[in-house]
Amino acid sequence: MKKAVWEQPGSLAEAFWKNGIADIPIYDMHGHMGSHNAIYFARCEAPEMVAHLRRIGVRRLVFSHHYSLMGSFRNQRVHAITARFPDILRMYVSISPHQTDFIAEDLDQYDSMAPLAIGFKFLPDYHKVKVTDPRYEPVLNFASERRLPILVHTWGGSQFDGPDVMQEVATRYPQVTFFMAHSFSGDLPGAKRVADACPNVYFELTSLPGQHTIIERLCADIGSHRLLFGTDMPWFDEYQHVGGILSADISEDDKHNILYRNIEKLLGKDW
Ligand SMILES: [Zn+2]
Repeated sequence: MKKAVWEQPGSLAEAFWKNGIADIPIYDMHGHMGSHNAIYFARCEAPEMVAHLRRIGVRRLVFSHHYSLMGSFRNQRVHAITARFPDILRMYVSISPHQTDFIAEDLDQYDSMAPLAIGFKFLPDYHKVKVTDPRYEPVLNFASERRLPILVHTWGGSQFDGPDVMQEVATRYPQVTFFMAHSFSGDLPGAKRVADACPNVYFELTSLPGQHTIIERLCADIGSHRLLFGTDMPWFDEYQHVGGILSADISEDDKHNILYRNIEKLLGKDW
């Protein structure tokens, strides 16, 4: 019988299973923070989250705060939280298309939030506003001028952030690097279509490692050089998602690509 991946001597999985901490840098490109309605989170505030990230060996978590996504507090406040843990936390400036006055202010103040702010976060399916809506344009233009990444929630079948509209927007803004959060969950052919059409698009893996063989299929169909690691922390646990990548039936190279190499190629190591 084939040995389990964590029994294979010298593998990333073996080291992780043995030590409980990764011996490679891990970049979690999709996190949140703060409580959320009636959901119980074991840890959702910065000090507890950071302690957990250190435990598992995450080098960077880039997050958007639940409250800033919903407009109940502002990105400057998220910046103050991020600045308490500058060795590990980075933020996305959260965009709500329902608050265009906030958007103008956030773009004005972007420089005071960088370099801890590395780009923007869109949540079109939650805000029920298509990513092609003109309200997103000021941010897309700003990101395009400065070549900043945007993490966009994407979902198979969504009219707001599904493959068709995302392909349209990624084609229109070739200077923006788009991180497709959840990789169009449920629509692998759609994800492949966008991957083939738009070289400025990367696919982020939040919520997928729990689905049987999806990591393997994404590596086969799109290629591990286009995949990025993320967890939606505190919605999912770092251990579950890192374990899901390390125990997937993919090559060691694929795992290195997903967990840190791709993002270091895009953003460097010094950020
Ligand atoms: Zn998320």
